Amino acid sequence: APSLDRAAGLAAAEAAGIKLTSPDRVVYPGQGVTKADLVAYYAAVAERMLPYIENRPLSLLRCPQGRSKYCFFQKHDTGGFPDAMKSLMIAEKDGQKESYFYITDLAGLIAGTQMNVLEWHLWGSRTKDVEKPERIIFDIDPDEGLGFEQVRAAAIDIRAELDAWGLESYPLVSGGKGIHVIAPLRPTTEWPEVKSFCKTFAQRLADKFPDRFTANSRKASRKGKLFIDYLRNERGATAIAPWSTRSREGAPVAVPVGWDELETIKAANQFGLADAIARAKRPDPWKGYFTTSQSITKAMVSSVAG
Ligand code: ATP
Ligand code: MN
Ligand code: MN
Repeated sequence: APSLDRAAGLAAAEAAGIKLTSPDRVVYPGQGVTKADLVAYYAAVAERMLPYIENRPLSLLRCPQGRSKYCFFQKHDTGGFPDAMKSLMIAEKDGQKESYFYITDLAGLIAGTQMNVLEWHLWGSRTKDVEKPERIIFDIDPDEGLGFEQVRAAAIDIRAELDAWGLESYPLVSGGKGIHVIAPLRPTTEWPEVKSFCKTFAQRLADKFPDRFTANSRKASRKGKLFIDYLRNERGATAIAPWSTRSREGAPVAVPVGWDELETIKAANQFGLADAIARAKRPDPWKGYFTTSQSITKAMVSSVAG
């Protein structure tokens, strides 16, 4: 697999007009990955990653001391970032407006990396119409002790159930323990209805396979089961971006995979930075994602509940 290239990272930062401070500071101690290496990583995968991340409200996991030290989620722009990290005002539930981050290009990814972002989390809608999601996600969360085979089987079942609703979906290995099954949508329907569809969809799946799944987030009901986390599908909720690094042991990446290769995958965190770069050079397993034209209609929302 190709290795990370410090010089390429420095060159990418310079081309983007971003001053990289402490480029040789180690951000992943276990792997010896530096800030400049991380810029090189994002430059190498940007073409694949940007279509998923550009023009979406973001939540950033920042780790100023590198992974394994103190990290924090930052939702609101309080200043201090390079200009390529942009922001827009979005109304909160109480009507108060707050500034949210978004990016439009590789310079944005580099600006975040300069500010020690190790994880990029995405809203389900775009900045031009934040009220209408253009994807749904079923985040499969296994209880302790469950194996990846069970996660994989769940992803395949979710795919089949979505297919029965006419929704094509794509699997993302999270870089942690689970798989996110993602269906792109045309932004036609607002959050409350989309959430309602997803909640009932997850509950019906749990009713169908009560020994394997739960749609209840309470710890007690998750014992020995997979939690179908449908709560990613509400206004303001986020999920990890495809191709984002994770601030976890082993420096894993959240990687798009194909349904046909899923059985060859052994763990949701098996892809490291170099693996992801190599995959970005191969044919896209999510080819078709952006030409998939589908939506959650009002008829579907009432039909899933009936
Ligand atoms: P895993 O596969 O290990 O579950 P994951 O990325 O799916 O990894 P979850 O804990 O299931 O992790 O969380 C799903 C998503 O919910 C996260 O990717 C993140 O976007 C969001 N999230 C979870 N916890 C927080 C938090 N404390 N603050 C902000 N967002 C969070
Ligand atoms: Mn999860
Ligand atoms: Mn979850």
